Amino acid sequence: MARRKPTPRPHEPLTSFDARRDIAGIILNRWGHAYLNPQPGFFFGKDGEPAPREILRRAPFGRIAFANTDLSGAPDHKTAIMEGFRAVGQLLDRVLT
Ligand SMILES: Cc1cc2nc3c(=O)[nH]c(=O)nc-3n(C[C@H](O)[C@H](O)[C@H](O)COP(=O)(O)OP(=O)(O)OC[C@H]3O[C@@H](n4cnc5c(N)ncnc54)[C@H](O)[C@@H]3O)c2cc1C
Repeated sequence: MARRKPTPRPHEPLTSFDARRDIAGIILNRWGHAYLNPQPGFFFGKDGEPAPREILRRAPFGRIAFANTDLSGAPDHKTAIMEGFRAVGQLLDRVLT
């Protein structure tokens, strides 16, 4: 019959892990989350002119439609998908009409 392991006392470590012995080093990498820095005019245009992003969104340039989160001003997957959906729709409109 196997012997039961004795219950450790509160001051005894639960494992044989020893930080000084078992950790050779710690590497911490900082990976910044890119974030658009909208300048005046980015969202609503300036001096009566449309915002550049609206010009890029309005219609494809030849066979190229622009789609990325930078156009939305909000860097996340939701806006990436929305921009891509719009751009593909614009290209399909050109092909199918
Ligand atoms: C660390 C980190 C964590 C994040 N966490 C979240 C999160 O939790 N939730 C969330 O919603 N969003 C998150 N985001 C944001 C989200 O990932 C981005 O906003 C989104 O992926 C941007 O999509 P995009 O299509 O605009 O651009 P990207 O995903 O950057 O796609 C651009 C593509 O174009 C390609 N490309 C570039 N130049 C050229 C070229 N000349 N020719 C051909 N291809 C080219 C690139 O290789 C890339 O594949 C995170 C971003 C980072 C960096």
